[in-house]
Amino acid sequence: MESGGKSSKDKVVAVVGGGLVGALNACYFARRGFQVEVFESRDDIREAKIVRGRSINLALSHRGRQALSRVGMEEKIVSKGIPMHSRMIHSLNGKQSPIPYGKKGQYILSVDRANLNKELLTEAERYPNARMNFDHKLKDWSPDTGLMTFLRPDGSARALRADLIVGCDGAFSTVRKQFLRRSRFNFSQTYIPHGYLELTMPPVAGEFAMKPDYLHIWPRNTFMMIALPNLDKTFTCTLFMPFDEFEKITTGDDVIAFFQEYFPDAIPLIGVEALKTDYFRLPAQAMVSIKCSPYHINDKCVLMGDSAHAVVPFYGQGMNAGFEDCIVFDEIMDQCNEDFSAVLPEYTRVRVPDDHTIADLAMYNYVEMRAHVNSKWFLFRKKVDDI
Ligand code: FAD
Repeated sequence: MESGGKSSKDKVVAVVGGGLVGALNACYFARRGFQVEVFESRDDIREAKIVRGRSINLALSHRGRQALSRVGMEEKIVSKGIPMHSRMIHSLNGKQSPIPYGKKGQYILSVDRANLNKELLTEAERYPNARMNFDHKLKDWSPDTGLMTFLRPDGSARALRADLIVGCDGAFSTVRKQFLRRSRFNFSQTYIPHGYLELTMPPVAGEFAMKPDYLHIWPRNTFMMIALPNLDKTFTCTLFMPFDEFEKITTGDDVIAFFQEYFPDAIPLIGVEALKTDYFRLPAQAMVSIKCSPYHINDKCVLMGDSAHAVVPFYGQGMNAGFEDCIVFDEIMDQCNEDFSAVLPEYTRVRVPDDHTIADLAMYNYVEMRAHVNSKWFLFRKKVDDI
């Protein structure tokens, strides 16, 4: 398509960040024929031995699947996902009660974050007009010229110009820094008092230690633990708790005493020795909610995924909403004939209210998951809903 004198084949789209949303977005832009350059600060995760990311697995839902399906990736990812039809609530006395997510047959999928990212990078690379630039950390860019400066691991710098810069560089986005220097840019950032820590529940005699087709939850009102199944028959357990509670636990014996009080059924499944050591492997990680508006600068730059809207993980929609950003942008590209000066403001107009709503829902579900799912009223309401 033609716009501004250049056809899409001549236009360079720089996707900054080769994480989940950046890698998927690269496929969307490459499909349209743009010259796509992906810049990722990390090494290629397909070759790296240790991949540092946030959660090990993620819940993929309908929004995310739709976005994958448009670039022909749904089946590949879904085939390696584990369906979770219900939440499984673990009471203090060990009783387990399922609460379905929806109607019969509806489910979300537990998928491996690293595998999803790798598959999307490989898919993006299949397009001859898409190129990956790993070990390229964006330092700064100019909204006037589109000139970007990248830092390389050897300390050198590389400068490149793009027609459109797509900021997919996550919650602490460097692309967004330019937005913060401008007038009439709204931005808010809220850290919640809770942190999270991941533990592994190994298989028992080669099988899952708990029923795999559930998202397991141990709601304890002011904190909670959840567990999602992995293909290798392990579960990744995530403990969400206020930082000051994490700080009270300083020894292996403290960990066991804490688990005995709140998650006794999980102790034999994770293992006493593993609990004592794994709990201290990494410090608890912070969680932030970020809202901003607008998502674009002129016809030069647009933010998508966590760089535009980092949400707390309790609604399981951060990545899914980021994937949906790609579909929404793609549809507006059709409506506006790929004219960036029309597409970008329209994208902000359409997308900001929806993303802000997801951020609010995620914050609300923070209380729902750790407290409301415990209430008799909630269980009663669910029973009525399921009839
Ligand atoms: P990121 O995944 O953060 O990727 C950003 C990429 O940009 C990274 O690869 C980074 O290296 C790169 N980068 C950063 N700075 C630069 C730079 N200056 N130059 C170049 N590259 C740069 N979402 C769900 O939908 N379902 C879930 O179940 C779910 N569970 C979660 C559990 C936890 C504990 C957490 C913390 C989050 C969870 N999320 C979930 C949210 C999800 O992880 C994010 O929404 C998703 O990772 C956003 O993808 P992204 O590509 O926008 O950002």
